[in-house]
Amino acid sequence: MKPTSTIAIDGPVASGKTSVGMALAKQLGFGFIDTGLMYRAVTWVAIQKNVDASDRQNVIMLAKTINIELKANTEANGTGSTYILVDGSDITEHLRSPKVEVSVSAISSITGVRAAMVEQQRKMAKDGKIVMVGRDIASVVLPTADLKIFLTASAAKRAKRRYEENIGTSKSKPLNEILADLSTRDSLDTEREDSPLMISQGSILIDTTDMTKEKVVEYIINLVRS
Ligand code: C5P
Repeated sequence: MKPTSTIAIDGPVASGKTSVGMALAKQLGFGFIDTGLMYRAVTWVAIQKNVDASDRQNVIMLAKTINIELKANTEANGTGSTYILVDGSDITEHLRSPKVEVSVSAISSITGVRAAMVEQQRKMAKDGKIVMVGRDIASVVLPTADLKIFLTASAAKRAKRRYEENIGTSKSKPLNEILADLSTRDSLDTEREDSPLMISQGSILIDTTDMTKEKVVEYIINLVRS
């Protein structure tokens, strides 16, 4: 049997995609691509250029012309082990700012933006040995991935995780606000017309509400090996 080489992981906000995906990639010796960072990068650039999400043509133009590079980082910089260069400048520190959080789902619902990102993501995955995480990886980007996972957890648990992650940082917010933001983004991501967040055919659903990250990684490693 062909060994597992491409792993697609989808799931809603704070379902553990990034931490699980990164740990999995490390254990398997695979590359790791967090596609959410790419949509965040387009959003940040649009904000910088005063291009509103309603100005679709200009947002699409930006998405098509900027050069996004994802780099592995060995130093902790707040977004784990990936940092992002846009046209050569490191914009990583801005990608989880409140401004980006508020606008990213509107920007990522634009079909032309998605087309530009998906094209790049497929190129990034073409040599295999990759763990790619996002919302539409199993359904659109890599429908023939060797292993497809859909991670989820209760909204209350996801909000609590985000709350705990942010304690003591500039992103710290009351738990009820985090829950409200997360629910808004979940609705926008699942209800959009193009590539909505969904459990794609062939994906294995893992509810991580009562699981540690280590348990989830172990569970997926067993799937890879079985
Ligand atoms: O995963 P993360 O929360 O960083 O993603 C930020 C936003 O980017 C999501 O809320 C979603 O709107 C968008 N996204 C997407 N497709 C992906 C990855 C992220 O639409 N593959």
